[in-house]
Amino acid sequence: MESIPERVKVAVIGAGQAGLSVAFYLRRFELVADEDFVMLDRAPGPGGAWQHRWSSLRLGTAHKVNDLPGMAELGLSFETADRSLPAKEVVADYYGRFEQHYDLRVHRPIDVRRVANDGVDLRIEYGDLAPQPVEEEKSRGFFGRRRKTFREPERPETPVGELRTQFLVNATGTWGSPFVPYYPGMGDFRGRHVHTSDYVDAEAFRDQHVVVVGGGTSAIGFMLELEDVAAELTWVSRRPIDWLDRQELDLEGASAAVAKQDEAARAGRALPSIVSGTGVPKSRRIAAGIERGLLVAKPMFEHIEADRVVWSDGSSARADAIIWATGFRPELRHLAPLKLREKAGGVTVGQGASWNDPRVFLAGYGPQASTIGANRAGRMIARQIMAMI
Ligand code: FAD
Repeated sequence: MESIPERVKVAVIGAGQAGLSVAFYLRRFELVADEDFVMLDRAPGPGGAWQHRWSSLRLGTAHKVNDLPGMAELGLSFETADRSLPAKEVVADYYGRFEQHYDLRVHRPIDVRRVANDGVDLRIEYGDLAPQPVEEEKSRGFFGRRRKTFREPERPETPVGELRTQFLVNATGTWGSPFVPYYPGMGDFRGRHVHTSDYVDAEAFRDQHVVVVGGGTSAIGFMLELEDVAAELTWVSRRPIDWLDRQELDLEGASAAVAKQDEAARAGRALPSIVSGTGVPKSRRIAAGIERGLLVAKPMFEHIEADRVVWSDGSSARADAIIWATGFRPELRHLAPLKLREKAGGVTVGQGASWNDPRVFLAGYGPQASTIGANRAGRMIARQIMAMI
């Protein structure tokens, strides 16, 4: 991989569906030259957040995963992908081939720590998470040559590099910013708190008493997986589940929920939960789970004790682990120096553009936070950048 340039016209942070979509439109139609463009991603390989998801998650278990623009040219489609394979593997493979085909040259694992003003430009400070060669103290080679060894990746305290850019496309998704609501007694719990982003597989909960919190498809997926593994399973949701009478969620068709996201983003408010607006589709597997009494959510408990969760009427359920399938927030910490966050709790964004800083675009934010929305972001943002460059 060639080295990261010192100055570019467009830098994209994040190579998930949103970042790749913007890059596709900018690069495919040669709107930005090779040397004026850079993509940075902190993950070890292609796949965006999908590469971190649990192995049992399959494409098409709840939502439709839309193809990236230009994916058809490679003869690839998620519609016809092998659904017996983990989604993390399929998506990583397809994204990887997409990056190669369109020569997107993503620099990874590069972790962006800070984006700050630098005159008319933006300065991106990053850390390189790749294992760094370390010189050993003593020479051990046969002829006394110094030998190089490798140490485990670690997050260096200080940034190891910086570059300047005229425009920034921030496409960092939400996976790195898990959300867990506060409940009294959380700190006293002696079991394990596990967020969706920490979930690896059902085996980790064998013969345990497990409480699953959340009203979306992740919580439901965990309930179905753990049914025959956990000793006792309790499902709680902060609001009643809004079951839909259809098998698959068409995120594009969920226009009211997308409109709510857009309204909040344009007003600079914190984004509402997407699932509260879309409802939950009933696949055959889910319908059967409801039928046999597994997928019946209790209302939220009131507090947590050392080994249990307790409802306001005094009833309780034993817990060795609480799985918080309570969602994510946009991953924007590195943009803090730009002071984009409003008092209302969000960032003001319309058509993927920051209202407060015309150099900054937020791909995949709010109404674009689905694979179809991320695709739309690509076209929308590339056009705006072209008009200004
Ligand atoms: P991501 O895929 O999260 O990509 C962001 C990238 O930015 C990552 O590669 C990350 O490494 C990188 N990054 C983050 N911070 C930094 C940093 N500081 N420096 C450098 N790189 C950074 N949507 C659907 O349409 N259909 C579905 O079936 C579906 N299922 C989902 C299931 C789960 C469990 C979850 C959590 C979400 C699901 N979604 C689904 C939503 C969907 O994942 C997203 O809308 C879309 O894939 C996100 O793409 P993205 O590019 O915005 O973000």
